[in-house]
Amino acid sequence: MTPANLINALPDGALIIGPDGNVLAANEAAKEALGLDLKGLPVKSVLRHAAFHSGVAEVRETGSPVHIDLDMQSRPPRQFNAHIAPVDDVGTVLVVLRDLTREQRIERMRSDFVANASHEMRTPLAAIIGTIETLQGPAKNDAKAREKFFDTMLTQARRMKRLIDDLLTLSRIELNEHLRPNAKVDLVDVARQAKSNLVSLIAETNVEVNLTGTKSTIVAGDADELLQVTQNLLENAIKYGAAGGKVDVTCIAEAGFGSLAVKDYGRGIAENHIPRLTERFYRVSTQESRARGGTGLGLAIVKHIISRHRGKLDIASKLGEGSTFRISIPLYSRTT
Ligand code: ADP
Repeated sequence: MTPANLINALPDGALIIGPDGNVLAANEAAKEALGLDLKGLPVKSVLRHAAFHSGVAEVRETGSPVHIDLDMQSRPPRQFNAHIAPVDDVGTVLVVLRDLTREQRIERMRSDFVANASHEMRTPLAAIIGTIETLQGPAKNDAKAREKFFDTMLTQARRMKRLIDDLLTLSRIELNEHLRPNAKVDLVDVARQAKSNLVSLIAETNVEVNLTGTKSTIVAGDADELLQVTQNLLENAIKYGAAGGKVDVTCIAEAGFGSLAVKDYGRGIAENHIPRLTERFYRVSTQESRARGGTGLGLAIVKHIISRHRGKLDIASKLGEGSTFRISIPLYSRTT
């Protein structure tokens, strides 16, 4: 057994540096992390990081291991934690590189999410507080203004409720994302139900909603969740595509999948926005979304539900022509 065999068995990046500062051995993970074959090269030329070299010097001097955080200016940038430990008393050291890039990205996403969610809550709350203050002060005896302010308070309180409901839905789905639902669900029934749940929005906007796909399209799923997905997509098509005057919902079964497509003829979505639409709180226009009662979470909910169903969401859109949001889910089979 050689030192090279030993470090090759490690899951993290590992290299051994000789007393002369040259790399004696490096495993595959270290080569991948540093982007080149390091063996025989002076470590100073492959890892240009002053804190790292001071760490190696300190380990040689004190004989005790040290940890150093390394930010690699690679593309994309990566973050590692280097554990540097002495191997013998002539200055050979072992370096283990733990890749923290993914953990740090998740941590950043979590804190961005908390900041975004707090900001979204704070806006309606500030409006409610402002209105109450006005009602207690300048508008105290103004009956007409009071009516208007109560309306504002109700709108803002409802917005907060929708936000909290959507956040709770998201966290519930995320908790169960690993469990694949497998009840028999007919997408045609789901589409009918979604349309009937949105009758008042349909009447208000005067959009014609056409359902096609008479043949039963039975997938393995959770009926309530698929209804939520369809309702979110249909509601968006009506809200943002109302200018097109009509929305088509089509269910078909093919190649082992049941699909439901919601197509509108509105103004469409520019290509650069499409990959980001399912991110939490991402909107093409925040102002428009809020004006239409949106929380910016509808498509994030759709994405998580579809992923739980081991399905796919495809978004196709052309500016000026409209958009099609299509979900595809494995058809129900006895073995599902
Ligand atoms: P919201 O609550 O804002 O509707 P969603 O997550 O459902 O949040 O949608 C995110 C954004 O995607 C919307 O704010 C809107 O800008 C855009 N969008 C969604 N569906 C459509 C559509 N059918 N046509 C045009 N834009 C859409």
